[in-house]
Amino acid sequence: MAEGIVGEFLALKEETDADLLAMQCGDFYEFFGDDAEFVGEELDLKISEKSSHGSAYPMAGVPLTELTPYLKALVERGYRVAVADQYEVDGGHERAIERVVTPGTLLETTDSEARYLAAIVREGGGNGGEDESRYGLAFADVTTGRFHATEIVGGSEDVLTECYRFAPAEILPGPAVRTDDDLLGRLRDRTDGTLSLHTTDAFAPDTARATVDEQFGSEALASVGLDEATGAIRAAGGVLDYVDTTGVGTLASMTRLQPSQSKEGVALDATTQRNLELVEPMGDGGRTLLDTIDHTVTSAGGRLLREWLCRPIRAREELTRRADGVEALAAAALAREELREELGAAYDVERLSSKTVSGSADARDLLRVRDTLAVLPRLVDAIEGSPDLQNSPIADVLARPDRAAAEELRGALDEALAEDPPGGVREGDLIRRGYDDDLDELIDGHEAALDWIDGLADREKRRHSITHLSTGRNKTDGYYIQVGNSETDEVPEEYDQIKSLKNANRYTTDELDEREREVFRFEERRSDLEYELFCELRERVADAAELLQDVGRALAECDCLASLAVHAVSHDWTRPELVDSGLDIDGGRHPVVEQEVEFVPNDLALTEDRAFLVVTGPNMSGKSTYMRQTALITLLAQIGSFVPARSAQVAPVDGIYTRVGALDELAQGRSTFMVEMAELANILHSATDESLVILDEVGRGTATYDGISIAWAATEYLHNEVRAKTLFATHYHELTGLAEHLDRVANVHVAADERGDEVTFLRTVEEGPTDRSYGIHVADLAGVPEPVVGRSRDVLSKLRAEKAIEARGSSSDESVQAVFDLDSGSFRGSASADGGRTADELSEGETTENETVDGSLDPDAESVLDAVQETNIGETSPIELMSRVEEWQRRLDDTEDDE
Ligand code: ADP
Repeated sequence: MAEGIVGEFLALKEETDADLLAMQCGDFYEFFGDDAEFVGEELDLKISEKSSHGSAYPMAGVPLTELTPYLKALVERGYRVAVADQYEVDGGHERAIERVVTPGTLLETTDSEARYLAAIVREGGGNGGEDESRYGLAFADVTTGRFHATEIVGGSEDVLTECYRFAPAEILPGPAVRTDDDLLGRLRDRTDGTLSLHTTDAFAPDTARATVDEQFGSEALASVGLDEATGAIRAAGGVLDYVDTTGVGTLASMTRLQPSQSKEGVALDATTQRNLELVEPMGDGGRTLLDTIDHTVTSAGGRLLREWLCRPIRAREELTRRADGVEALAAAALAREELREELGAAYDVERLSSKTVSGSADARDLLRVRDTLAVLPRLVDAIEGSPDLQNSPIADVLARPDRAAAEELRGALDEALAEDPPGGVREGDLIRRGYDDDLDELIDGHEAALDWIDGLADREKRRHSITHLSTGRNKTDGYYIQVGNSETDEVPEEYDQIKSLKNANRYTTDELDEREREVFRFEERRSDLEYELFCELRERVADAAELLQDVGRALAECDCLASLAVHAVSHDWTRPELVDSGLDIDGGRHPVVEQEVEFVPNDLALTEDRAFLVVTGPNMSGKSTYMRQTALITLLAQIGSFVPARSAQVAPVDGIYTRVGALDELAQGRSTFMVEMAELANILHSATDESLVILDEVGRGTATYDGISIAWAATEYLHNEVRAKTLFATHYHELTGLAEHLDRVANVHVAADERGDEVTFLRTVEEGPTDRSYGIHVADLAGVPEPVVGRSRDVLSKLRAEKAIEARGSSSDESVQAVFDLDSGSFRGSASADGGRTADELSEGETTENETVDGSLDPDAESVLDAVQETNIGETSPIELMSRVEEWQRRLDDTEDDE
């Protein structure tokens, strides 16, 4: 037998390409061999040994009833687990793999995230490369029945962006994608999805089309404009076939094919989602935008809000509708709270619907469906009682599901289901009395038989005058009469002893046996009939999958809009006005930072004529906060939310692109500069004149001249070719000169106040480039000896008086700074006395002089200064400037060497 089992396991394992196999053996699911060791380790299961053909096999098992949580744990770690069930056949049994549970098809999930399964197909085009290909994508969430398909013309970056919108738990690469190492690598690195291979046949155009038609009806593709989209159809067919073959039985919950809204959507790539900390914090303990604004009361509402944030839209009509809803809810405080309280009683019906379709819902699940359906009319009542909400989009949202059908289903469930059913579905107690005549009859008979047994003890006590007599039931003895040892002599003839205990004996009688059989018969027939009625009911609910999805989505949307209203009211947010061009924010704040500090609001104006802002200011002054708040206000406006500002006019953008510091990528082992340039390349390719671009310190990852050149060139390109609305924070002060060359570039700076030796960050954003004198303050903070700091102040004022510095531009980066480097100049003596502080440590560029301590310049340094003074920065190209600086540095180095 043992040999057989291991052999059978190994044979079944051959059949499947799943990572692990769980095989039913009686009351347990067992893993053998390597699988057992692996599962034992991962899930902390006890590993025993099974011997087979003289060798010992590791074995680990879980009880039948506890498989689900173990499966869930394995699948959430990214493994695919095949499950083989055992069947009785002619006295023996057989085992067969019935389903494969995978990350993208796991039904049992409680978290508030959607669980998408994705397929990606590439049409035509060579391997990899930057040339544009045509991709088809499909996304299915078996837990809610959502299904989206789309086609993308572009590069792998666009595919990733679309993937990020859905954050799939599992990805099926289609035939051509499997050999595209570049795309596969990026999917592996930059999504959390498990990559799974599915049969190529499923992706074949004709097969896939037939699968899609069969699932959604032959009109579906045309009705969502995907009739010609072979890629999307192939991806959709692949996904459907995969769901079918994994055998989770949820295909029927997918009732509607939806185009994913990429045309009306906003491009929000992976990097940007992370940079803006929309739903995941960058570091530990960081607070995300979602955490901050989520006041939803249902898990479906929270899930929808997350989706909105990751998938902002451009469609004005929809944005206006949502904002109207938020506005109405913001005004109707009482009705809003009533609404939210009612919503709190709703369950996740979209997920319950999928459970029902797959046949895994129990009676408690159906009660939850009933209770959620009951929420709908109560919400309608709450809204009808409120003048603000009566004619608002909230009323429209609630009018979407077929209310009569919902009420009918609720009524049917209410009539049928018992009030407090057990978790199992086989033991009866599921169905209410009065629902089915046959069942009522069985219940009557059952109860009469039970009554007879209940009264038996009293009757027997009286009849035979035995005081210590009781009745009971257990598994081995069935029903019995028990008499205490002191009275066993009184026991009448007709009692048959069946057991002798320490203090008592157990008996039965013919009549009791008869009644016992009756009770067992009733029990069995009753639970069979209840199960049958329950299954009919569950079928009925499963058939209403589309209705339940409608209800679920309507409730989720109400919850989401109410949540946005709650936040708007409690944080004094304002409704953004959607305009045709530009971005004008009055008193804008950062939605997350404003919760943590006393926030100083700032204005921002981008127009056709002033579309590119160079943002300067000392470190920590608030540059990146200002830029991020701009992106977040735009994004919030484009999910239909109010925004943290006194007023805001927003022209919806087609994409938000960011490039900021790359700490996390460093950890992945790519060079910062390479990552930075790859992202910059992506932005320059993808952004349009309707996009918003945020660049924080681009060009920092390389040697300074390269950095400035790239930043300069990128700015020109963004300004002249892409024409995107751009905010560009830089510590290259040279770049503030761009405003003189390019018409639509303007300088702003985050102000700081220098009084005496103190710098106070004012956090206000003002016109014009920054005053660069903070460098001295930073040198002071960094521990540069006081004589040097003091002397540098003198030098600075001298130089300012000569206007030399204004002409030269900043020395705030290290190489330009080297011209006046503390470490290489005549200050060397005193600087070294402080431990040889290097220019690098004086991060925010410091201006000092190549002077001797007594203040007299050596002749070479003087000639360099003259040259600096003579240079007209406005008429010299950046490249020329750089080469001159290089020359000056060389001359100063020579001076030093002479000493
Ligand atoms: P920078 O990008 O210039 O180095 P940050 O934007 O990171 O500076 O800002 C540094 C800190 O200053 C932030 O963590 C925040 O706490 C604070 N801060 C920024 N802007 C404001 C503001 N407008 N009002 C209040 N505090 C702010």
